[in-house]
Amino acid sequence: MDETALPPPRFGVEGRIAALENLSPGVTAVRVAVESGPLIFAPGQYVAMSLPEQPPRDYSLTWRSAPDELEFFVRDHGVGGTSTFIAERLRVRDSIRFDGPFGTMPLALGHEGPLLCIAASTGIGPVTAIAKAAGELAPEREVQLYWGAAKAEDLFLVDDIAAALPLDGRLVLSAEDVEPDNGMIRAGNPVDAVSVYHGVLEGWGAVAAGPPVMVEAAAVLIQSLGLAPENFHADAFFTQKDKQPK
Ligand SMILES: Cc1cc2nc3c(=O)[nH]c(=O)nc-3n(C[C@H](O)[C@H](O)[C@H](O)COP(=O)(O)OP(=O)(O)OC[C@H]3O[C@@H](n4cnc5c(N)ncnc54)[C@H](O)[C@@H]3O)c2cc1C
Repeated sequence: MDETALPPPRFGVEGRIAALENLSPGVTAVRVAVESGPLIFAPGQYVAMSLPEQPPRDYSLTWRSAPDELEFFVRDHGVGGTSTFIAERLRVRDSIRFDGPFGTMPLALGHEGPLLCIAASTGIGPVTAIAKAAGELAPEREVQLYWGAAKAEDLFLVDDIAAALPLDGRLVLSAEDVEPDNGMIRAGNPVDAVSVYHGVLEGWGAVAAGPPVMVEAAAVLIQSLGLAPENFHADAFFTQKDKQPK
C-alpha cells in the first residue's frame, strides 16, 4: 500500500454531534453523525474539526468509527481551547464541520510482518483501529498493543480494546501512578514496557500515536532494536503551540 491508495480528503464536510460520553475524568468520546454523505477513511486517520467559534483542531478516528458515524476520543487539558470547549460546552445535536481524512498510519497495514502498536492517552483510538484492521486482514499475524496513561483511571474501554485485537494478540497496559507490583497495569510508560518485552524488532512493523514526547521516544527505541524506519508510521498529537516556530 502506498499513499495513493489512501482515500482523498474532503473539505467542509457537515456533521452533527450524535453522542457525548465521559470515558474517564479527562476524556470524552465524541460521536459525529456525518450529514453530507458517508466519509470514506482508512483505519488510524484523522480529521481537522471545526466547532462553533473554535479554531480547527485535529482529532483521530477511533476503531469504533463507521463512514456515517465517526468517533473521536478527546482529552481535556483543562486550560481552555477546543478540548475544554468539547468537555464543557459541546452538546448533542450541535452542528460541526470538518476536513479529512488525513494521515498515513494505515500504510502500516501494507507490511506483512508482526505489528507493534504503541499508544499513549487518546492515541489508543487510532492505534486500536490499526491493530483491529491488521487482524482482520491477516488473522494469523502477530499483533501486540502497548497502551499507557499518566493515571490508571484514564485507561478506559479495556475489554473492548482487547476484543478488537486478533485472538492471540497481546495488550499491555501501563500507568505512571500505580505501584510497581500492580498485577494488571505496569508502572511506567508504554515505551518502557516495549523495552522490557522486546530485545530485537527486526522484521516488525510499528505504529504509534499520542503526545509527541512518547512518539519520539518510541521511534528512538524501536529503531535501536532494529525495526526499519520505513516500517514505522506514527501520528504525534502536536498542539498548535508545538507547531509554531520556536
Ligand atoms: C494528527 C493529530 C491527531 C490528533 N488526535 C487527537 C485525538 O485523537 N485526541 C486528542 O485529545 N487530541 C488529539 N490531537 C491534539 C489536538 O489536535 C489538540 O492539539 C488538543 O486537543 C489541544 O487543543 P486545544 O484547542 O484544546 O488547546 P490549544 O488551544 O492548542 O491550547 C490551549 C492551552 O492548552 C494547553 N495544552 C494543549 N495541549 C496540551 C497538552 N497535551 N498538555 C498540557 N497542556 C496542553 C496549551 O499549552 C494552551 O495553554 C491530535 C493532534 C494531531 C496533530
